[in-house]
Amino acid sequence: MNSLVGIGVSPGVAVGKACRIAQITSVGPIPATPRKVFDSLNLVVADLERAAKTVELDIVRDVLGVQAMMASDPALIEAIGARLSQDIEYKDVRPDIIDSFRGFKTALSALGGYFAERIVDLDDILSQLLNKLAGTEHQLINLAEPSIVIADELTPSDTAHINLNYALALVVAKGGPTSHAAIVARGLGIPAIVGCKRALEIEDGSVLLVDGRQGKIYIDPKATEVESAQLREEALRARAAAVVGPGRLKDGSHITLLANVSDVNGAIEAAAAGADGIGLLRTELLFIDSTSEPTVEDQVATYKKIFDLMQGRRVIVRTLDAGSDKQIPYLNSSKEQNPALGIRGWRLTRTHDAVLERQLEAISKAAEGISLELWVMAPMVSTPAEANDFATRARALGIKKVGVMIETPAAAIHAEKVLLEVDFGSIGTNDLAQYVMASDRMDSRLSDLATTWNPAVLRTIQIACESANKLNKTNGVCGEAASDPYLAAVLLGLGVTSLSMVPSAIAEVREFLSTLDLATCVEVATLALNADSAQEAESLVKENLQR
Ligand code: PEP
Ligand code: MG
Repeated sequence: MNSLVGIGVSPGVAVGKACRIAQITSVGPIPATPRKVFDSLNLVVADLERAAKTVELDIVRDVLGVQAMMASDPALIEAIGARLSQDIEYKDVRPDIIDSFRGFKTALSALGGYFAERIVDLDDILSQLLNKLAGTEHQLINLAEPSIVIADELTPSDTAHINLNYALALVVAKGGPTSHAAIVARGLGIPAIVGCKRALEIEDGSVLLVDGRQGKIYIDPKATEVESAQLREEALRARAAAVVGPGRLKDGSHITLLANVSDVNGAIEAAAAGADGIGLLRTELLFIDSTSEPTVEDQVATYKKIFDLMQGRRVIVRTLDAGSDKQIPYLNSSKEQNPALGIRGWRLTRTHDAVLERQLEAISKAAEGISLELWVMAPMVSTPAEANDFATRARALGIKKVGVMIETPAAAIHAEKVLLEVDFGSIGTNDLAQYVMASDRMDSRLSDLATTWNPAVLRTIQIACESANKLNKTNGVCGEAASDPYLAAVLLGLGVTSLSMVPSAIAEVREFLSTLDLATCVEVATLALNADSAQEAESLVKENLQR
């Protein structure tokens, strides 16, 4: 076994010794009274709150805070109380406690996406509670020297117990692109690979080379393998840093490069990366962070901060995409059989019409007096009627540029009619790939299917672009695909007119595009379209576009 593969979720190259992080979970019966169970749960909450106060990394702090809230949820306490109802010492409380948590996990799993990935947080609380009751304390091998962390799963409390300053890279057997490990690694700026099924076969102490860009781990790498990976990474970074200014192809023609942003910090990063503006302002965070709908005034205040940072540039605000992987408990039903196909995005007008009306009002008010190009778009639109409904309402509030996301196959195939209702389209490749391939975007086991590289997805994008170009409407991409330099080239070749991506990807995409002309992009797009599989499309394009 010289190399292993997984999903690269944070770029970079690291070399170092493997350090396996194993969480000790108690085994055997746990005798206890209900009082002791509740006291122990309180201690877990206190531990989480303490860890949240002391941990350095913002993202870990936030997750620990959410875990503390989950662990003190009255519904959880009630569920445990219903099973351990007598004031006696039970011989073994473990099965009842596990059962109480099971109901919560089933509910989260039914929500899918982001919420399904939070099951790991709940499992983490469960194992902490059982350990507390059994007197087995959270034991993690702490990193004593710079190491590559290998784990089956990396929970928030694990990360709070590890000296992350010593983490050179993360390699995790489970998890997908939005798992805790991926988020932490991006926050730390270190390489990370998740969904590496054979990660636990790596022996503790063995020397590894981790390439987070390629999703590859080399065991006992040869010096030449290390050197070439490091040189490639350094060269890519140095080249990216050398190209500044607006996005341009080799012939000098301008390519609009925008940033995907969810909050004020993102807007700061977008400005620092020299983005032409924000191509996707995700507005869910404000709603997710709150237990009820934020007031129009609260929304105005947040949008205004972001608009101020983007003065003179374009900002495309997306109305609330609640539902599916972005469930908002007070807006979405937990009883949907199929949340990705249920009430999400603009469909929320069917259940919470006034929420979207108030959001549109807030967006329009926030832009008053600020000189910026305000564009507003609705997510999860499938029909011309939905596009018309959104456009009519947004225009009535004085919003001049209105658009829709093209992220359902219906919107792409019928783009000629859908885009007629609005001023622009924006292709959401994350969802479009999910829906075209009928493959959950959050399930790492399906990542070979739910990818934009799939020729069927590329063909769908091409259909949407043909319609947009016929109607002379702007049609950008704001899904993750735009942040992959090779896919960015393919997308331009398919007829996309702008690219919006995570701010950290802008430099590399800008540099790579500056070496290509449109004819080359069209050539590689044709190769990819004619391939038989996502893997073949990707290899063909990479062979033809050496970086
Ligand atoms: C998309 O679906 O590609 C997209 C950009 O939207 P989100 O990832 O927020 O669903
Ligand atoms: Mg989407």
